[in-house]
Amino acid sequence: MNPVTGRFAPTPSGYLHLGNLFSSLLAWLSAKSLGGKILLRNEDLDPDRSRKEYALQAQRDLERLGLFWDEGGSLGGPHGPYDQSLRFDLYSSQLAKLESQGLVYPCFCTRAQLHAASAPHASDGELLYAGTCRDLTRQEIAERSRTRSPALRLRVPEETISFSDLHYGPQQQYLPTDCGDFILRRSDGVYAYQLAVVADDAAMEVTQVVRGRDLLSSTPRQILLYQLLGYSPPEFAHTPLLLAPGGRRLSKRDGDLSLAGLLESGWTPRDIVGNLAYLAGLLPEPAPAWPEELLPLFSWEKIPREDVIIPDDLFQHRRVF
Ligand code: GLU
Repeated sequence: MNPVTGRFAPTPSGYLHLGNLFSSLLAWLSAKSLGGKILLRNEDLDPDRSRKEYALQAQRDLERLGLFWDEGGSLGGPHGPYDQSLRFDLYSSQLAKLESQGLVYPCFCTRAQLHAASAPHASDGELLYAGTCRDLTRQEIAERSRTRSPALRLRVPEETISFSDLHYGPQQQYLPTDCGDFILRRSDGVYAYQLAVVADDAAMEVTQVVRGRDLLSSTPRQILLYQLLGYSPPEFAHTPLLLAPGGRRLSKRDGDLSLAGLLESGWTPRDIVGNLAYLAGLLPEPAPAWPEELLPLFSWEKIPREDVIIPDDLFQHRRVF
């Protein structure tokens, strides 16, 4: 039995950018430095945003950088299928568990109504649901269902969820005001990331989740779902984000920071890994390295907590070695 199972969980909505590769490298090092394994799950929940081509390219990119996984993706394994689009039966059975506890209600709000009625979260500017559909009567539900298919929301309890992030330390959220009732299934029948990721990490026996800091504020609601579904949560370690010069967030649309773009401009995979390791504080200066070679150097203490701005020369595709 492996002591640690970590995972890569890319959404195939574009090519992996340098920030995705940065957190993948840290997820790999964190699990492997403890003698653990990594699985690869394709988070293609949303059919409108996901493309098979991106999922295949993500596998090729990870392999090129020496970020080999042990289960999932092209390897398959005992917890398959590893594509979220093929796992809706699991999500539906987990949703049924929550329904049987009386914790799920239909929400008929339109996007415009949500924007009008919601207050932004204190933490991250996300919208806090105002609870408009929380207490609809059976009759109201029946009437509204005639003209609109509802999303399904979780009725969050009046509880505080606390946990200690391996990298960012103690965290807590009071669910009613920091999180609010959140979506479990969209009105078009697509399951929400929060439900799917918990159902999958539990079913795949993931014990360590390493991912970008942008998901830190989602973690309390995921821990709540673990509790309600009767699973113990994994440990969580969030990584700082890599930012473009000037501090702009990277997005998958930043094709110029895709691996293909960097390789085309003359970088080798070892250059890229070495640079990411330097930005992560694992190397004193950029020097080519494979992930394997970084294992003895890895420790969470060396990784910065502040987001890391990619130096200009790197962003411009100029070689820095
Ligand atoms: N699929 C998510 C993404 O690509 C990551 C989810 C997770 O790590 O929990 O941003």
